[in-house]
Amino acid sequence: MATPYAYFKKEIVPLSEAKIGIMTHAFNYGTGVFEGIRGNWNEDDEQVYVFRVREHFDRLRKSCKIMQIDFQYETEELISLVTKLVEMSGYHEDVYLRPLAYKSGEVLGVRLHDVEDDFLIFIAPFGPYLDIEKGARCQTSSWRRVADTGIPARAKITGIYANSALAKTEAQLNGFDEAIMLDERGHISEGSGENIFVVIDGRIITPPPSSDILVGITRDTVMTLARDELGLEVVEREIDRTELYTADECFMTGTAAHVTPVVELDRRTIGDGKMGAVTADLVKLYFEIITGKNAKYADWCTPCYSKVKA
Ligand code: PMP
Repeated sequence: MATPYAYFKKEIVPLSEAKIGIMTHAFNYGTGVFEGIRGNWNEDDEQVYVFRVREHFDRLRKSCKIMQIDFQYETEELISLVTKLVEMSGYHEDVYLRPLAYKSGEVLGVRLHDVEDDFLIFIAPFGPYLDIEKGARCQTSSWRRVADTGIPARAKITGIYANSALAKTEAQLNGFDEAIMLDERGHISEGSGENIFVVIDGRIITPPPSSDILVGITRDTVMTLARDELGLEVVEREIDRTELYTADECFMTGTAAHVTPVVELDRRTIGDGKMGAVTADLVKLYFEIITGKNAKYADWCTPCYSKVKA
């Protein structure tokens, strides 16, 4: 039986013992920054491979800089904490790791300066998030994506997720699987927790960081695979909402969502309403790679269990 552990107040403790006080600044004001990292179970190797852990901690460091959170951990130390947490918890399934750097001071007053910071990591089992085979039915959200001039979307800030939650719940209560948000200028930005891609005439197109997206690590993975493995042209440019209606294929990417086809937007079927050929090629490659089955991309996969199968 697996038992989840957490890294909390500089120690590894059972998750059930990791509790914060009700006055914690980040809890009251949304002043935390975090990552979502997947550990992917490989049955043959009896191993959990954590995907692109370095890139996640690089992004966390950038988020900390924006939010003036003091973060002194070295990357190697962070990787060793992550692998230790997986090993101690003992999961033999897909897991999700949540590093969170946050304003931990139990003080009143909304600000970033003069508040103590802390850092934690927890782990949870985590299966599929969206139905990849069926694809996602989406709605253009009535909520706009937060702008860089308001709360910078390129930082993964806890408080930003109020924006994502408003959009996700609106979409689900309206009978859809996921929301697609526009930026303040009305161009496609991103889903509540996913980046967006379209395939038009054999080219892969995705919104640029200036469309107020979180610059996703799955986004980068898919752009690399499309260029290097499928030989496709990848373009970052602003995308209009109606380009999704008429695209040959559309898909969304994210640590939770993996690569999920978008088969419908605002009750218009995209392509033939099924996973498209380019999306299918990317999904296949992506799953091989994240589960440690493609030697060329072994650098992206960090094994957690020290006892390697004979
Ligand atoms: N956008 C948002 C708003 C997200 O929450 C996520 C998930 N972290 C993504 C995009 C995708 O990012 P990544 O591929 O790094 O998980």
